[in-house]
Amino acid sequence: MIFGAKTDIGKVREHNEDSFGCKDNLFVVADGMGGHRAGEVASSIAVETILAGNISQIDEAGLKQLILEANNAILAEAEKNPELAGMGTTVAVLVLFPHKAIVAHIGDSRIYRYTAKGELIRLTDDHSLVAELVKRGELTEIEAKEHPHRNMLTRALGTKGNIEVETMVLPVQPGDRFLLCSDGLTGMVDEDTIGQVLAGNDMPKVLAEQLVALAVERGGMDNVTVVIVDI
Ligand code: MG
Repeated sequence: MIFGAKTDIGKVREHNEDSFGCKDNLFVVADGMGGHRAGEVASSIAVETILAGNISQIDEAGLKQLILEANNAILAEAEKNPELAGMGTTVAVLVLFPHKAIVAHIGDSRIYRYTAKGELIRLTDDHSLVAELVKRGELTEIEAKEHPHRNMLTRALGTKGNIEVETMVLPVQPGDRFLLCSDGLTGMVDEDTIGQVLAGNDMPKVLAEQLVALAVERGGMDNVTVVIVDI
C-alpha cells in the first residue's frame, strides 16, 4: 500500500478549512465550515478523533461509532467555546484490509475507486441539497454545478447529536487505486479528467499534486484536498 496526499488553500478562501490524515490502513478527509477559524477546528477534531480510534478489527458499526465520537467531540468543543458555535465538517473515511475496504462518509467529500481496468467508480453519494435534487430528477448534474446553493449540505458532523453516517464494505482487488477528496476538487475538475489523471503511472503523491494543481488552475474557488492510496 502506497499513499500520497496534497492540500491547497485555493485562490479565493482566506483559510484552508480542509484537514486530512493517514495512519496505517486508515485515511480521512474532512472539509470544515464555520466563521473565523471554526471550520478548521471542526475538520481537525474530526480527523484527530478518527485517527486516534482503534481500527485493527473495526467493522461498519464500529466505524460509525468512531465517527459519532468525532461528532460528539465537535459538539463539546463548540459548547465550551462560543466563537466556534455552529461549526461543522464533512468527513470521508477509508479503512483498507487485505481483501476488503470499509468506506464511511457524511457530507460532500467523496471517495472513488479507480480499478486496474481504468474504471472510475464513485463510492459515496453527496449529502447535499443539489445531490438530493439530482436524485429526484429535479436538476441535471450540469445544473447542479451552477446552482447557487450547491455548497449546502443536508448532513454534516457538528450539526446535531444523532447524525446518520453512511457506510459500505467492498472487496479490494490488486491494482485498485482509491481517491479521497474534498469538493474543492470535484467542483473544479470533472470526473473524466480525474480518471485521466488517475490512469497515470506516477506515484500517488505526484498524482495528488497534479489533481490539486488542476483544481487551482481551473479557478481554485475552494480549499482542495486529495488523498490517493494504491493497493
Ligand atoms: Mg469545500
